[in-house]
Amino acid sequence: MGSNFLTLKGWHSPIFRDETKLYLEYVPKDLPHREDTMKKLTYLFWPIISSTGNFSASAWIHGAVGTGKTAVSKKFGFLFEKISKQKSFLLKYIHINCKQKRTGSNVILSILDNLNVTVPSRGLSFQELASILKKILFKKKRYILLVLDEAGYLLKKEGSDIIYSLARLTEEEFNQRPLFSFIFTSKQGRDAFLLDQSTRSSLAPTKIHLPKYNKNELKDILTLRTEEALRKGVIKEEVIDLIAEIASSKGDARYAIELLWKAGKEAEMEDSKEILPSHVHKVNLSIMEPRQYEEINNLPRHEKMVLLAIIKENLSGERKYARIKRIVERYRGICRKYGEEPRSYTRVWQFIKDLQHAGLIEVNRLSEGERGTLKIRVTHEELNSLEGVIKGQLC
Ligand code: ADP
Ligand code: MG
Repeated sequence: MGSNFLTLKGWHSPIFRDETKLYLEYVPKDLPHREDTMKKLTYLFWPIISSTGNFSASAWIHGAVGTGKTAVSKKFGFLFEKISKQKSFLLKYIHINCKQKRTGSNVILSILDNLNVTVPSRGLSFQELASILKKILFKKKRYILLVLDEAGYLLKKEGSDIIYSLARLTEEEFNQRPLFSFIFTSKQGRDAFLLDQSTRSSLAPTKIHLPKYNKNELKDILTLRTEEALRKGVIKEEVIDLIAEIASSKGDARYAIELLWKAGKEAEMEDSKEILPSHVHKVNLSIMEPRQYEEINNLPRHEKMVLLAIIKENLSGERKYARIKRIVERYRGICRKYGEEPRSYTRVWQFIKDLQHAGLIEVNRLSEGERGTLKIRVTHEELNSLEGVIKGQLC
C-alpha cells in the first residue's frame, strides 16, 4: 500500500532502454537505405568546402511523408558542419521548419536567432532584415547551409520570389564570396513551386527524390532502432516483420516507428515482458479513425480479404476502378497468403454486395452495352491506411 508507484526509486521500464530514441525529432546514427542520398549531397556540396566558400549549391529533396527528408537533411547538415570545422572553414548549418516559419521575415529572424543575434522587436521589413543578416554574415565571416524543411509552406505563401531574394544575397556583391547554400525539402517536386523561370535558372536546385520504403527497408530501419531504444530480447523478429508489413502499405518510416513506440507503451502498460503482435494490432487500430476501425473490425474475415483485393486493385495501375475478374484473382492470392480456402465465385459476389451495402465500395456498370462488366471502387480516400489496417487484422 505504501509503495506509491511514482515515488518508487529505481523503477525502470522493462521494455524501453531509451524511449527518446523513438521520438520523431531523434536522428539516428545511421540512415539505412539513404546512403546514396547522403553521397549525392556530399558530391553536390563538397565544392563549398574545397573552394573555402567561393561556391554555392542547392538541392531539392522531395518524397512522401516519412521517406526521411527531415532525417537526411539534418544528418547531412550536422556532418557537413562538422567536416567544415575540421577543415577550418566556418560553415553553419541552420534547419528551419517552414511549416512553422511561413514568411520570409520569419525565416530571416530564425537565421539571426541561430546566430545569436537579437533584433529590435518592432516590425522590420523583409528587406531591412535581409540587410541586417547580410552585414552580420560578412562581419562574422560565416557561410550558411540553410535547410528549408517543408519549403512548400513558405513558397505557397510568399511565392518563389522569396528564394530569389535569399539567393540574391549571395550574388549581389560581385567580389564577395557567396553567403548561402540551400537544401529544400518538400512532398512535391521542385517544379511545382519554382515556377518563375529566373528563379529556376539562377538557383537550379538539384532534384533528389526519396522513394517510399518497402517492407524490407522498413525492417532494417526498425531493427536498428529497436537496438537503440529497446531492452534486449523484448521484441521478436516476427513482430518487427509485422510492423514493417503494416507500415509498408504507406512506405512511411514515421508510421513504422510510431507503431513500434506505441506498441512498446502498450506492452509496458499491460506489464508484458515483450512486445507482442496483439500490442501492435491494438495500437495500429487506435491510430486509425474510429469510424474506419469499426467498419472494418466487424467484417467477416473473407469480406476483409475481398475488400483488401479491391483496394490492391484500385491502387495498382492507372485504373482507379477494379473489374470483378481481377478482384477474384487477387482475392485467391490473398487467401493463399493467409492460408485460407477461397470461397466460391458466388460467395465472393455476395461479399461484394455486402461491402456495397456497408458503403465501403461503389459498384457501377463499366458501360451501357457490356452486360456483367462492373467497375468497383473503394469509397474511402485513404486507401493506403485502410490497406494497412486490414492487413493488421488479418495477420
Ligand atoms: P519526412 O521528413 O520525409 O516526413 P522523416 O525524416 O521525419 O520523414 O522520417 C520519419 C521518421 O523515420 C523519423 O523518425 C526518422 O528518424 C525515421 N527515418 C526515416 N528514414 C530513416 C532511415 N533511412 N533510417 C532510420 N530512420 C529513418
Ligand atoms: Mg519532415
